[in-house]
Amino acid sequence: MAETLELYGDNLEAFRREETEPKVGESGNAAVKRFRVINRSQVMIRPVDVEKLVEEDHPVRAIWAMVCQLDLSRFEKDIKVVEGGKGRSSYNPRLLAALWIYAYSEGVNSARELSRMCAYEPGCQWLTGMEEVNYHTLADFRIQDKEVQDDLFIQVLGRLSAEGLTDIKRVMQDGTKIRAQASGNSFRREDTLREHLKLATEQIETMGSPDSEDSSQRVTKAKQRAARERKQRLEQALEELKKFEHEHKESKKAPRVSESDPEARVMKQPDGGFAPSYNVQICTEASHKIIVAVETTQAGTDYDQLANGIDRVQANTGQLPQQMVNDGGYIKNANIELAQQRGVDLIGPVAENHPEASLEKRGVLPDFYPDKFRYDADRDTFTCPTGKTLTLKRTDPCEGRTEYHYRAKASDCANCPFQNQCCPKRSPRWLLRKVDSPAVQAFRAKMQTEEAKQIYRTRAEVAEFPNGWIKEKLGLRRFRLRGLTKTGMEALWASLTYNIQQWIRLSWRPKLAAAA
Ligand code: SF4
Repeated sequence: MAETLELYGDNLEAFRREETEPKVGESGNAAVKRFRVINRSQVMIRPVDVEKLVEEDHPVRAIWAMVCQLDLSRFEKDIKVVEGGKGRSSYNPRLLAALWIYAYSEGVNSARELSRMCAYEPGCQWLTGMEEVNYHTLADFRIQDKEVQDDLFIQVLGRLSAEGLTDIKRVMQDGTKIRAQASGNSFRREDTLREHLKLATEQIETMGSPDSEDSSQRVTKAKQRAARERKQRLEQALEELKKFEHEHKESKKAPRVSESDPEARVMKQPDGGFAPSYNVQICTEASHKIIVAVETTQAGTDYDQLANGIDRVQANTGQLPQQMVNDGGYIKNANIELAQQRGVDLIGPVAENHPEASLEKRGVLPDFYPDKFRYDADRDTFTCPTGKTLTLKRTDPCEGRTEYHYRAKASDCANCPFQNQCCPKRSPRWLLRKVDSPAVQAFRAKMQTEEAKQIYRTRAEVAEFPNGWIKEKLGLRRFRLRGLTKTGMEALWASLTYNIQQWIRLSWRPKLAAAA
């Protein structure tokens, strides 16, 4: 016993713990095994060399190196404390930007989590110099100013361009749906929203009375703030409802918007389901897969997003993309014409028409499909399989094409023995001839060439890579913030992080290895 006590020294508690814990082989004849002592009752002070917390090639050093090249003075506009003046020093925007970029690169998009990381994570500790940064500061910085953040994104693009990592000759655009911070159950019709708004207003009014002060001042203030924010969201929801109604005039369903995030829209997901989401449009240049434009939208489809994509790329890089490569979701005649007018070479799949399905539905037999009618260009008429003439009755100008409608004589079809096979539901027989505009014809001809097909084959690899990276590696499958502007900022931070990670891989690491 005396020997054992000597072994433990003054640490009697550890000794007692050892004494009460069962020992292997205690009951048998075998020798008792000895293990290292776990001593949790000690206090330690360790020297920390902050510079050595991370290795020379740790990505956090690259992030800091990149941030140090940028002009962040626009982030300083609200900082009042100056050198020689009174007050607590502010956090350097350079540090806060680097912390967020590092956090996103580690798959963290929560301000609270990032604040906790500052206490234990070596990369964050190195950045902050072992200081902790509170979560309010981090949360406020992330959504400080969309314009300033756009400027930060453009500056990083400028640095990458200076190193030859961006080329605007070929840009690939794709949209990805990211879930909103709202559930499907939070969608309400107008009458329910008005009812909830009335209740929220009443709640705020009663909260001001002393009787309702059931807790500390801090708790009361927090409750008042939450009630005010709820009222604002409900007011915004009613505004969004009007906008939604305007956008979906043809819909027979009563419009509904979310109480939690009024700007979110229910969108179809890749798995076939529907969920409140935002459609994030990402334009990626093809040479090094650098994101050159990113925008969060409320559009459920990509049909109307080509113009925005071209505009954003031009605004961010100062150059018009020479070629845009888009999937079938963007290809419609209006977009083909728009690209031609803007001087952009559009590459995308040609939509195939299959009129047979609708003809079959109408009971028309294959012998009387449109290809069995002969067109006479000189007379601008069609001749049906029984030799009767269909003449032009109507001309409709449409998006990117003109539609010509031809009709047989009512008496010809009424007396025709094939009427039940040719026009069983609508007699006399009608025929439609579509003539594409020169721009659409040129697009269709171009997409028949092997060169255009080959370019299109490279689309998925380039365009879907950043989308997948942002979701899988950076963990942005669901937005943490609410509203179009704030989710736009989240998407921008993630894209900025992705670009810097590409720069680390393509430039910073190779240079470091070469210098070693
Ligand atoms: S139904 Fe009219 S259009 Fe059709 S084959 Fe007979 S005559 Fe011609």
